[in-house]
Amino acid sequence: LTVLGIESSCDDTAAAVVRAHGERGAILSSLVAGQADLHAAFGGVVPEIAARAHVEKIDSCVEAALDKAGMTLGAIDAIGVTAGPGLIGGVLAGVMCARGIAAATGLPLIGVNHLAGHALTPRLTHGLAFPYLMLLVSGGHCQFLMVEAADRFQRLGGTIDDAPGEAFDKVAKLLGLPQPGGPAVEAEARSGDASRFGFPRPLLDRPGCDLSFSGLKTAVLRARDALVEQQGGLTRQDRADLCAGFQEAVADVLAQKSRRALDIYMARSPASPAFAVAGGVAANQTIRERLIEAAGGVTFVAPPLSLCTDNAAMIAWAAAERLTAGEAPAPFVARPRWPLDERSPALLGSGR
Ligand code: ATP
Ligand code: FE
Repeated sequence: LTVLGIESSCDDTAAAVVRAHGERGAILSSLVAGQADLHAAFGGVVPEIAARAHVEKIDSCVEAALDKAGMTLGAIDAIGVTAGPGLIGGVLAGVMCARGIAAATGLPLIGVNHLAGHALTPRLTHGLAFPYLMLLVSGGHCQFLMVEAADRFQRLGGTIDDAPGEAFDKVAKLLGLPQPGGPAVEAEARSGDASRFGFPRPLLDRPGCDLSFSGLKTAVLRARDALVEQQGGLTRQDRADLCAGFQEAVADVLAQKSRRALDIYMARSPASPAFAVAGGVAANQTIRERLIEAAGGVTFVAPPLSLCTDNAAMIAWAAAERLTAGEAPAPFVARPRWPLDERSPALLGSGR
């Protein structure tokens, strides 16, 4: 089964060709055209600019992905496209492109949940067996999921406010570091003392595996303001210590909540237990180390970074999984919001 994937839900225009062989996939091509340069001056993604850039780039991105895979549409068996959640203008750009190709070729079209794409990536890369525990930590999301089947996800808990990636980006901004903030904060933290500021570990006192990151970000803001007031500005060392303390707090909270999520997961006695991460924040070395520790004896899987962040290979793969499972392509609508643990999502909100 060879699937063309299309992704345009945030600020990356992506297309990919994936061939599914049983439990795992081969990526024949995966192209991502970022837009960071277009949004840099605004300090965040501007939805209208993103949507227009997707419309401009999507056709050539699809063509390039087919070229790179050395094939034409004639060799494709199906199309998978991100149908949400995300910035709706961008999602629509991808969906229109996919619908156009499907109408012209008669190929089956599957509307994929972007988060399902992230959550199923460990199967594409490692052939991981269901059910596995997934921590999805990205710029917009943070949740623990029991991944039970290609269309069955049970949410065990998640952030009640900001996502960690968003917190890394905001902390970078308030310390005058470049965007995206994650890599910048991680680099600064290397020469920092994580114990200098006693940053909070939100919600650890509460049972379950919900998380919160907005108070942590505010704590960094307060510590910065206190330093500026005392000494008129920040030294290089202050900045490094703030980054190290913040990163350590995020890693600590993620690790401790992962233990709790693992307890819930292990209580189901999975045949081959595994804990997987996905999302851009999983690129962070300190966080990764703490998660490996938290996994204990359970197999830990982290897809390569290019497949942790947004890409279309994961969308093609998620569509392939659903087709392989016997699902018939059904009409769907583009959705700005689309929680993963909703069943029969394709027709919800469509008014049909
Ligand atoms: P979503 O998938 O939730 O819609 P997104 O697609 O914007 O969000 P990703 O592309 O998965 O998110 O990840 C981007 C986020 O990951 C950014 O917030 C970025 O700062 C963060 N990030 C990237 N590298 C690192 C790192 N080394 N340490 C911490 N955070 C990082
Ligand atoms: Fe994403």
